Order: sequence, then C-alpha cells, then structure tokens
Amino acid sequence: MLINLNRTEKYEKTFLALGTMNVISACGKNSRQAVNAACERVQEIHGRMSVYEKESDVAKINYKAGREAQKIHADTFSLLKRSAEFSVLSGGAFDITIRPLTELWGFGKKQNYVPAKDEIERALPLVNYRDLLLDEEHCTAYLVKAGQSIDLGGIAKGYAADEAKRILMQHKISDALINLGGNIVAMGYREDGLPWQIGVQNPLSARGDYIGTLEASDKTIVTSGSNEQFFISDGVRYHHIIDPRTGYPADSELLSVTVICSSSTDADGLTTGIFVSGISDSMTLLKNTDAQAIFVMQNKDLFLTEGLRNTFKRSSS
Ligand code: ADP
Ligand code: MG
Repeated sequence: MLINLNRTEKYEKTFLALGTMNVISACGKNSRQAVNAACERVQEIHGRMSVYEKESDVAKINYKAGREAQKIHADTFSLLKRSAEFSVLSGGAFDITIRPLTELWGFGKKQNYVPAKDEIERALPLVNYRDLLLDEEHCTAYLVKAGQSIDLGGIAKGYAADEAKRILMQHKISDALINLGGNIVAMGYREDGLPWQIGVQNPLSARGDYIGTLEASDKTIVTSGSNEQFFISDGVRYHHIIDPRTGYPADSELLSVTVICSSSTDADGLTTGIFVSGISDSMTLLKNTDAQAIFVMQNKDLFLTEGLRNTFKRSSS
C-alpha cells in the first residue's frame, strides 16, 4: 500500500459560489494556500459567469442582446466556445441560449411556477445557440436578437472545477478532492493512500444514498438528474433541465446520467446534453471525448459504458 509520509498537512474549505455549496480539500505541503487560491479562482469565475451578478460577462452579453457585441474575459470566451461545440455535437440538446426558458420557469427563484403555453411559445424562438456570435480576434460575444439571453448553469461548475484543479496543481498539490455542488474532481489519492471512492447519487432517494461507488484517481465525476431541482404540481413532476425543442423539462426516459472523464467542463456539458437527448443519442456525444457514463432510466434500469465494468461497484440494496 502506498503510504506517503509527506502528508502531514491537510486543509479543507467550504464556500458558496455558482449558486451552490462547494468544498475543496487538499493534502500536502502548502495545502492551505493552495485551497484558498483555488477557492478564489472559483469565486472569480462566478463573478464573470453568473447570470445573477450584474457586472458579470454573462449579464452584460444578455443586456446588450440585439444591440451590440460585448467584450468579455478570455475565461468566458473559452467556455462560450466550448459550449457552442457541445451545442453542435448534441444537435442543440445542450444550448446555453436556454435562459429565456429557464428564466420563465424560474427554478430556485419562483415558487412552483408552470408557465402558460403561450409564454413558452413566445420564449422558444429566442433559444438558438447559432444566434450567439463569438469573435475570437476581438474576444467579444453577441446575441443577435433582442430578448435572447445565455445561462451557463449547465457547464460553469465543470469549468470552475477544472480551474480549481489547475490552481491546486500549480501549488504542487497532487492529492485533493474538489466538490463544486456535486461536480467532483478526484486528484491523486486519499490520505490513507487508497483511491478516492465516489458515491453516485441514487436519483430516487435522499442525498447521500448511492446507487454505487466508483474508484477514481485523477478523474472527474459529474451527474445531471431530474432530482436536483424539481417541484410537483397537479401530480406532474417538473425539473430544471429544459428541452430547447419543446420548452418543457426534458423527458428522455433518463432519471440521471453520470459522466466520468478527465475534463470536468466536458463532463458537465455532456451530462446536461445527454439528459436532454437521451441514451440512444448519447453515444455520438461520448465518442468525441474520453468519457464513460452511467445511465439511470426512469424504469430504474441501470446502464454502464464498457470502460466502467470494473470500476463501478453497485450498492447491494
Ligand atoms: P446541476 O446544475 O443541477 O448540477 P446541470 O449541470 O445539468 O445540473 O445543469 C442544469 C442547469 O443548466 C439548469 O439549472 C440551467 O441553468 C441550465 N440548463 C437547463 N437546460 C439546459 C439545456 N438544455 N442546455 C444547457 N443548459 C441548460
Ligand atoms: Mg451540466
């Protein structure tokens, strides 16, 4: 067994950002400085990418929709570019111009609001990733129609998790666990020298009840599910991942999808896209990355991609 005698220092920090609770913990020399720097980086990304921060790049792009291009930070530009790639790869299932619809539904803001059909019909034509024009040379973004707006809620946590990892590595940390509201990056090994054990949430039960665990070292694990934010109205369950084609919560026969790969940005974009498009379309998306996936179907069937057969341990109950 690997026992690392250098691991005398360990530091953990819990903080709010990107609309969720986050925990970063690291082992090793300088772990305190490293974790603090990683948290600051996540806060910086929040400041640039949160739709709710008035001074964020995202808020400014939305404010200028249909009028003029907005100069943005290189961080935001690179994530918008990657998001556009996922939109193409997912055939539009993943679409950051989803904001007119997510704002209408108001998950986390309004109380159990089911929009009227005509409200949905008015918002639908505003959702189209092709209308977000990115100019690499000038580092600007422009939404072509007034009323259009972007929402990076489906991918920003993944980007922030990748960046937190990069900062920890810059501080020579090799063993750490980053958890940004369920977007996990497992770096190196646990304090006892064993690989991290990551629980995969059972979408049908309370937080912390797992369908199984994954052994992970230098991997990211991200889940999208209809259990994260939802409400029930007149017996119908409505959740926060919206199908850009219908304007209603996605109904793809999936309860949740978990992606395991090396890039958390990719994993986050993939899970949201796959949750909308469904398992049969997911293979095109997955084959463009090094990703493996766990699918939990509405009928409770569980499917794993080939590469997980030996690393995923199903819970006994
Ligand atoms: P969570 O944020 O709960 O971990 P996701 O990564 O799947 O789960 O992100 C869901 C968020 O993505 C929504 O709250 C919303 O901000 C945004 N979103 C919803 N539908 C879409 C979509 N079709 N494409 C891109 N983003 C979406
Ligand atoms: Mg996502």
